[in-house]
Amino acid sequence: MKVAIVGAGIAGLACAKRLAEHGFEPQLFDKGRRPGGRLSTLELDGDAWDFGAPYFRVSSPRFAVQTAAWEHDGLIARWPTGPEGAWVGVPAMSAIVAAEAAKLPVRFSAQVARIDSDHAGWTVSGPDLREGPFAAVVIAVPCEQAASLLAVHDLAMAQEAASVRSVPCWSVMASFAEPLPSLPDVIREQGPIRWAARNNSKPGRAKAECWVIQSSSEWSRDNIEAEPARVADDLLQALAQISATALPKPVFLKAHRWRFALPLGQRGTPLWNPALQLGACGDWCIGPQIDGAWQSGAELADQIAAALAETGSVQPADQNHGTA
Ligand SMILES: Cc1cc2nc3c(=O)[nH]c(=O)nc-3n(C[C@H](O)[C@H](O)[C@H](O)COP(=O)(O)OP(=O)(O)OC[C@H]3O[C@@H](n4cnc5c(N)ncnc54)[C@H](O)[C@@H]3O)c2cc1C
Repeated sequence: MKVAIVGAGIAGLACAKRLAEHGFEPQLFDKGRRPGGRLSTLELDGDAWDFGAPYFRVSSPRFAVQTAAWEHDGLIARWPTGPEGAWVGVPAMSAIVAAEAAKLPVRFSAQVARIDSDHAGWTVSGPDLREGPFAAVVIAVPCEQAASLLAVHDLAMAQEAASVRSVPCWSVMASFAEPLPSLPDVIREQGPIRWAARNNSKPGRAKAECWVIQSSSEWSRDNIEAEPARVADDLLQALAQISATALPKPVFLKAHRWRFALPLGQRGTPLWNPALQLGACGDWCIGPQIDGAWQSGAELADQIAAALAETGSVQPADQNHGTA
């Protein structure tokens, strides 16, 4: 049974992987050109910046099983000078999603603008895209974007998505020709800075001095429409104020705006409408982090398998929770 999944971030990938384990045929669509979503890494001439999630922690037993498998495969490692309990992708945060995406059918550069259903099933379409029929559809994109895709078919589900709000965040990437010894590897909540880190202090990175500076929620809201160049200068200036000595001129400086960075107000479960065979998952369903996003996808897959097994549509291949 074919299931279309819109969004190949960690939630969509977890859902696809688990659906495949249950005997379904998932097909992922992502508007990005490469794997990442909010676990993106910019790599340039050997330098790298994890400009989405900088690390993750494990809080659920189920995600702990997946984490152990990633560690076994050399995809993640502890960050010794990072926050307590921090895991990072190796050699980049995006390595985690890239490895998962490589095992699944994903179409990149495939923006889904609408989903439609008729007697044959679901069709997904967008610019240069029209594919179907699928027996079910899963929406695995940030809540604001999910709400608009869901609204045509299930108003209650769209309202659930719309009731969660994402906080924006600016991420500034900077590199320097020399180390900045006056700064610690991690800086938290100082003025407009929510978080800043020396990316090259993570395991498996090149030595060049690369920094990621994330803005606080309040500053991000106040400066959401600011020019990226001005944002980069302002946040670099804020980092310079934390440093005891003047910072050298960066050799690379770029700002990225996450309009939908961190969702607030989760209901605690993924969404599934068995009558329509339409579901939704993502970090806006369970928890605003990688752990929550991953869990939402895996849980939704189990819910879909259980619901369709009840109607006799599929024979579940495997109902256990060993998802690694
Ligand atoms: C700046 C920042 C800092 C963070 N810090 C942390 C942290 O310290 N620890 C932590 O655990 N988490 C952190 N997070 C959160 C973490 O990154 C997210 O919770 C998680 O990656 C969300 O995964 P997801 O699959 O739900 O969504 P996403 O990763 O956003 O994936 C959604 C995917 O859908 C695609 N898409 C969207 N619309 C469409 C469409 N119409 N058609 C096709 N594809 C579409 C996108 O391209 C994207 O790949 C941070 C996030 C940001 C941005």
